[in-house]
Amino acid sequence: MSADTDFSRLKRSLADNLALIQKRIQAASRRSVIPEQEVKLIAVSKRQPLAKILALAELGHLDFGENYVQEALTKIREPALSGLNWHFIGGLQTKKARQAAGTFSMVHSVDSLKLARALHKKAESLGVVQPVLIQVNLAGEARKSGIDPDQLPMLARETASMENINLQGLMLMPPFADDPEHSRPYFQQLRQIRDRLEKDLGLSLPHLSMGMSMDFEVAVEEGASMVRVGSKLFGPRMDCA
Ligand SMILES: *Cc1c(COP(=O)(O)O)cnc(C)c1O
Repeated sequence: MSADTDFSRLKRSLADNLALIQKRIQAASRRSVIPEQEVKLIAVSKRQPLAKILALAELGHLDFGENYVQEALTKIREPALSGLNWHFIGGLQTKKARQAAGTFSMVHSVDSLKLARALHKKAESLGVVQPVLIQVNLAGEARKSGIDPDQLPMLARETASMENINLQGLMLMPPFADDPEHSRPYFQQLRQIRDRLEKDLGLSLPHLSMGMSMDFEVAVEEGASMVRVGSKLFGPRMDCA
């Protein structure tokens, strides 16, 4: 069996997964609390082989999500993968912010003023504007990234005032649950928090990045503008990063 045949088969199976997920997103968006909302599918490619990412890219898919800066940079620098939009969705250490600014189409995981400042400083030195979202930790989970909702207005106000940062909305990772309905209250809460922030601070925050393989349809119903789907699209991840 030739490698080409393997790749063609891989591409066909990814095309099927992609079509199914897009169909389910469209159906969910017809039930959405925000009618006509456009929903962007971010293919979460962390710990997925290059061949699968390339296959999806050849199918015309443009938006990919990564969790680890080093792993992401390897993929971004791969000539065969040029021209794609890379989203940073993982926890970002301040010292890695310099590598992230200007590299990713969007950083979804800003959760401290220190991190926002580090991104801003690097973006400023590059002469670019870095689009970001603020990640909110709604359940108060100690080991998860995300800012406490109490501190969100301060962080949003400060971040929105930075010239080389473009704050576009909020991101959420609800507590792990087997039942997607358990995520619904968190998705609803994030939308309400966004709506209130827009009013109170006079900001436009069009994006809500929420929903993964398990619960993306519920997220779309509750107003997600971006869903981050990995395993349901690509299959299981490789064990070690
Ligand atoms: C890994 C990851 C995803 C995708 O998870 P799946 O369950 O494979 O869809 C989405 N968002 C974040 C922040 C992740 O780390």
